[in-house]
Amino acid sequence: MSIKQSLIKPIPVNEPLLNGNEKKYLNQCIDTGWISSEGPFVQQLEQQLASRVGRQYGIAVSNGSVALEAAVTALGINQGCEVIIPTFTIISCAAAIVRAGAIPVLVDCDPDTWNLDVKQIEAKITSRTKAIMVVHIYGLPVDMEPVLEIAKQYNLKVIEDAAEMLGQTYNGRSCGSFGDISTFSFYPNKHITTGEGGMILTNDPELAQKCRELRNLCFQSQKRFVHEELGWNLRMSNLQAAVGVAQLERLDESVLRKRWMGKFYTDLLANIAGFQLPLVETEYAKNIYWVYGLVIKDNVNFDAEEAMQFLRTQNIGTRPFFWCMHEQPVFKKMGLFAGESYPVAEKIARRGFYLPSGLALTDEQIEQVVEAVKLLVSAPGF
Ligand SMILES: *Cc1c(COP(=O)(O)O)cnc(C)c1O
Repeated sequence: MSIKQSLIKPIPVNEPLLNGNEKKYLNQCIDTGWISSEGPFVQQLEQQLASRVGRQYGIAVSNGSVALEAAVTALGINQGCEVIIPTFTIISCAAAIVRAGAIPVLVDCDPDTWNLDVKQIEAKITSRTKAIMVVHIYGLPVDMEPVLEIAKQYNLKVIEDAAEMLGQTYNGRSCGSFGDISTFSFYPNKHITTGEGGMILTNDPELAQKCRELRNLCFQSQKRFVHEELGWNLRMSNLQAAVGVAQLERLDESVLRKRWMGKFYTDLLANIAGFQLPLVETEYAKNIYWVYGLVIKDNVNFDAEEAMQFLRTQNIGTRPFFWCMHEQPVFKKMGLFAGESYPVAEKIARRGFYLPSGLALTDEQIEQVVEAVKLLVSAPGF
């Protein structure tokens, strides 16, 4: 059979699953006319997510990126402050810091978990350091205990970007419950989706209040249109929250499914040489496989781009790993990170990509993806 004849129906890198009460709750919004952020599902989602994760307050916002912006601003991080982040992360983290006038200070990542290497944090602390922004990457949480110890010792705030880790735990405690403030995203590839959406969680009533104000243009309760500070419109609509409430009802199921998919991929890929697979577990967590990442080993000639190109010809959707913050043209133009190098992150950014990982992916599709990976491995020049 030629490669062309073997082509399967395209398998997208992510397809969400919307087969619970989503429609029912959306209909309730329409039937009652409550579609704006004033509708009841918004508070419901805030309270339910906060209680699920084990935090006091939830502030629903329009996406995970602005959740980080509001968190940074609410913590008083501004001009001249430094915030330590991994170089291997999404642009949202660094963007939130730069937009606040502060400076992102980078650390490399661990070659096995792909999370920030906590051993490198302390050397980056200066008198201007205000916070550590931890980001749980792909499926395993950051080793939080040492981070929290360092934060305590140096009196630093901790922002926990838990966008990829809803439903995951660290030493039995929910991700998103650590540090001063945590953030989530409900983009369609996350563990629950609202189409677009995000959440800020905190136990600090003042921080929560501050985030609420920032979300709502810093309108004041007395003189509504007189502003002491600048906020944004980051509000989530009742329509989005309705979908979120339905999604959250099935979080446990979704986490089980993600873990099953990860195990299935791992079993099927076990005897295929050429890739570093995601770690099954660490001392403190079992992988939740938000996405199923592969890193192409050094002795293979293909890089991630070539591998993804090949899989595209087989109708398999993939995504590259994050591109390092210190290699971003936009930050170079700003004069940031000149001459800095983080070898582990640079390598996985070039040799890493992830396979279809959405909740709508079937077992049969996973088998088809792995068949395509086998073809890749036997491709000339691999
Ligand atoms: C998805 C994601 C974000 C951004 O969320 P959006 O809702 O897409 O803005 C932030 N941080 C991490 C780690 C993410 O995975």
